[in-house]
Amino acid sequence: MTSWKLKCTECGKEWILKVSYDLASMGKIYHYCPHCKKNTFHIVLERIED
Ligand SMILES: [Zn+2]
Repeated sequence: MTSWKLKCTECGKEWILKVSYDLASMGKIYHYCPHCKKNTFHIVLERIED
């Protein structure tokens, strides 16, 4: 699993998503936002090394 810092383009909150695939090349993803409680566009900010 890799952790990614995402920023929701609707509420502006940054949060961490753990997935098993590489988001680095995508730049922007459509994903469920835990703050908006709906699917929104997110900017992929950075990969979090753990
Ligand atoms: Zn949001």
